[in-house]
Amino acid sequence: MLETKAVIIIDMLNDFVTGKIAAERAKRIIPSLKKLINAARESNVTVVYSNDAHYPQDAEVVRKWGKHAIKGTKGAEVIPELQPAEKDYVVEKRTYSGFYETGLDPLLRSLNKGDGVKTVILGGLHTNMCVRHTAADAFFRGYKIIIASDGCEAFTQKEHEEGLRYLEYVYNAKIMTVDEIVKEFK
Ligand code: ZN
Repeated sequence: MLETKAVIIIDMLNDFVTGKIAAERAKRIIPSLKKLINAARESNVTVVYSNDAHYPQDAEVVRKWGKHAIKGTKGAEVIPELQPAEKDYVVEKRTYSGFYETGLDPLLRSLNKGDGVKTVILGGLHTNMCVRHTAADAFFRGYKIIIASDGCEAFTQKEHEEGLRYLEYVYNAKIMTVDEIVKEFK
């Protein structure tokens, strides 16, 4: 059977995990994301990395967070523990949503022999920001959404939990653990 899901890993980059705007809590999702990514690769579920790759003049940099994940710098690279494999895809973005003026939607629609994927499984940072905005754009485009509850984090527990609740309430996202998600791959 052709797989109609894709895993999207959001902003697991050096600057977000150990660098300029690091969240201490980001580190604890690394093992579950590793498990999710490896299981996806083994089951031929496409893995897409949705990565900030900012120009210094981007609105988000200038007006909000300061310099982070600047295109071409070490800070914009995926953390060593979760390096993309050869058959994975890397799609750069310049603000919170992985879809906003990027090639993500055409990529997802080209998969599954051109029938496209139907469900996106989101993990990474942050539950209440880039995951949320990527989920919004996925919802607008008709994708079903699964959120890896132990594969997302935010700056605080409160932000993470509120983020999950919002995703469930507004985008009808299914909140699942990585173990539950992976079981459905087999
Ligand atoms: Zn950014």
